[in-house]
Amino acid sequence: TRAQFLTRTIARSYATSAGPHALVFLEHRDGVIDAGCLSALSAAKELGGEVTGIVVGGPEQLKEVIPKAQKLEGLSALLHSSSAQYASPIPETISPLLEKILSNLAFTHVVAAHSSSAKSLIPRVAAKLDVPAISDVTSVEHNNAENATTFTRPIYAGNAIATVRAPSSIPIKFFTVRSTAFKAAGTDGPEAKSSEVESVEVTDPPTQHIRTEITKSDRPDLGVASRVVSGGRALKNAETFKATLEPLADVLGAAIGASRAAVDAGYADNSLQVGQTGKVVAPELYMALGISGAIQHLAGMKDSKLIVAINKDADAPIFQVADLGLVADLYDAVPELVQKLKP
Ligand code: FAD
Repeated sequence: TRAQFLTRTIARSYATSAGPHALVFLEHRDGVIDAGCLSALSAAKELGGEVTGIVVGGPEQLKEVIPKAQKLEGLSALLHSSSAQYASPIPETISPLLEKILSNLAFTHVVAAHSSSAKSLIPRVAAKLDVPAISDVTSVEHNNAENATTFTRPIYAGNAIATVRAPSSIPIKFFTVRSTAFKAAGTDGPEAKSSEVESVEVTDPPTQHIRTEITKSDRPDLGVASRVVSGGRALKNAETFKATLEPLADVLGAAIGASRAAVDAGYADNSLQVGQTGKVVAPELYMALGISGAIQHLAGMKDSKLIVAINKDADAPIFQVADLGLVADLYDAVPELVQKLKP
């Protein structure tokens, strides 16, 4: 078939290229490439070699996504594969496709965002190929002469940074990327050539996708917002959480976040949790309101550019990482702040 011909043609051109050649897994939703993948692409570029992207999806989805993916800055080629099975991708159906591509084409690295789906997909494909996968990396450096790649990744809730080296004995180096550690790649580059790869249909997959429920919000997405206003246990209940934080988030055009204590107590949705077991954010402005600053919370926000804390306890650990701290009752301070910020 034409697809097989194209695959063979690319395989030949890849085999002759010296140096690293990364394959970046590009996720998308509603026709838009996920922001985390743009950071994964930047990490792939730092390897210093060629970068090819791959998008998978249902035929209709790909019609919309392929032209956008082709224009991602830094991509020299784009592979795409469509199937009804890929419309709601799950690792069990995508993994055989990646295994096929990786056994036909000479990629040195496989790169993905540290997203919930890639966290499930990447180790699976790596295990099938009997190589390790390195997760949540914050830097990459490739030594071409030694064919070795060195990564850093936070461990112990960000209290230590591990340096991990993947030597030449690992033929394909798999890694997922912490999006806050890399700038997003541009989306208006020269058009990369694209080639279709035939899908691999999985009969009777052990897991099936039933439905996806997405939390809808008019606010900026917590993961990529440049300003975040977060509330903790001090917000008392869901009503007070909303009534106190929303006016401030509105005047700042900010996303809303929460500590785990606030989420566990039902004041805020799970998707808003910031921290070791929630989202890792690094906005321009992070405001922690009534949050004590436990290390598990700091793990998710301490790289924010400007940290502002309001807490009535002057000894709260959050003040150790805050650039600006206000020892005050948030129920006095926040409404006053909203008044002052109002245009
Ligand atoms: P608290 O620690 O109870 O702090 C409330 C703060 O509000 C206090 O400092 C208090 O002085 C202040 N306060 C009270 N009233 C007012 C007022 N009127 N005005 C101003 N200030 C006021 N936590 C996370 O956040 N994210 C995670 O991802 C996460 N993962 C975890 C993973 C593990 C394995 C474990 C063990 C814990 C994890 N935690 C996580 C929980 C973490 O240890 C803390 O329990 C949690 O962050 C505390 O939330 P908090 O700061 O809202 O509550």
